[in-house]
Amino acid sequence: FSSTELAQAYLQRIGNLNSQYNAFITLTEEQALAQAKAADEARAAGNAGALCGLPIAHKDLFCTQGVRTSSASKMLDNFVSPYDATIVNRLKNAGTVMLGKLNMDEFAMGSSNESSFYGPARNPWDTERVPGGSSGGSAAAVAARLTPAATGSDTGGSIRQPAALCGITGLKPTYGRVSRYGMIAFASSLDQAGPMARTAEDCAMILNAMAGFDALDSTSAERDTEDYTADLNQPLSGLKIGLPKEYFSDTLDAGIAEQVRNAVTEFEKLGATVKEVSLPNTELSIPAYYIIAPAEASSNLSRFDGVRYGYRCADPVDLEDLYKRSRGEGFGPEVKRRIMVGTYALSAGYYDAYYRKAQQIRRMIQQDFIAALNDVDVIMGPTTPHPAFKLGEKSSDPVSMYMEDIFTLSLNLAGLPGISVPCGQTQGLPVGLQIIGNYFAEAKLLNIAHQFQ
Ligand code: GLN
Repeated sequence: FSSTELAQAYLQRIGNLNSQYNAFITLTEEQALAQAKAADEARAAGNAGALCGLPIAHKDLFCTQGVRTSSASKMLDNFVSPYDATIVNRLKNAGTVMLGKLNMDEFAMGSSNESSFYGPARNPWDTERVPGGSSGGSAAAVAARLTPAATGSDTGGSIRQPAALCGITGLKPTYGRVSRYGMIAFASSLDQAGPMARTAEDCAMILNAMAGFDALDSTSAERDTEDYTADLNQPLSGLKIGLPKEYFSDTLDAGIAEQVRNAVTEFEKLGATVKEVSLPNTELSIPAYYIIAPAEASSNLSRFDGVRYGYRCADPVDLEDLYKRSRGEGFGPEVKRRIMVGTYALSAGYYDAYYRKAQQIRRMIQQDFIAALNDVDVIMGPTTPHPAFKLGEKSSDPVSMYMEDIFTLSLNLAGLPGISVPCGQTQGLPVGLQIIGNYFAEAKLLNIAHQFQ
């Protein structure tokens, strides 16, 4: 079949099913068909690369030229980006076909998709449950087969946690491996874009197009790219796996613990050896993250002032009224909570008590990982402490929502790569195994995940 037929089939499936999942918030049918036609032509001319004609959809915080890019906020509901994010551009040049833009938590702040201005995306395994967040639309769309692949972003778990909750594969690369240019910033020292798809092999192919140095992102790593599909079939004999004792405490869901332990046994059968490691400051990662991320967010979001672009309140009486009401009306409650926490933590007099302390903890967490990864090749554990929870179950209790990130956000504080791979079910819901590697060990993580799949 042709790329055009493939794109049409997906567009039709989205048309039939999206109302159940609310995964897509913008459909780009016209662009998709034009790109599919170009892919068919490239194929006919014999110059089609591996991704040529692959349908894909982007989380709505990646700028897409001529297409609304909302970050799922009322603030940007009317914003049509004049340019493409680097990853969007790279994937376009690789011949992918953009189906549309995907739902997410507002400005990527959340773990359930419930903070979206467009209403939550729903988990295809049980539509009464959350798909996770913030890349919940990406995970739901891949799980419901509305797209074979999607992009996501991960500041504290937003690729890995929804991947786990929806039973798909999601990779957060090393900080700096993938360009952040044109990705609407949440917390710039933590944000990283990555692929979400059914398998590690699919993620590897997509990462090949996404990764690489970008002069437009000052934190982009000046390091050669590699072919992430090259080592997928490396045998795992001799692989040293570390299991952090802090990850298997009483608060971990028993069904998740069981599935993760079963997965580890499978790796032993593939020739790996397992030992216990310690990440003693794991518990501190939540308070440290929830100072650093809001602090950076409060600074990043100061650009939304109702003047240059985005939402503007009606009939402002003066400039101050314009700022106040545009921001007051344009941001949702979780975003406001973060801006207030972040502004407070950065204020004179509180900076040393909160922000500096959080940065010191960040360093300790990084050192814990470096010490553990001196002893083992990779660290494994659960991606989340619980399977997908019910819509509304945690939305009135921010701290219990924040606790869902316990296993994911320490990697962002350390800048390390991690992948979530489906590893069975509990209570009829998918379980995610998280594999954590050393800096720039993406190829190894994909190899390990591929051998397991
Ligand atoms: N759930 C975390 C938060 O709310 C992480 C979000 C993310 O990775 N974008 O900040």
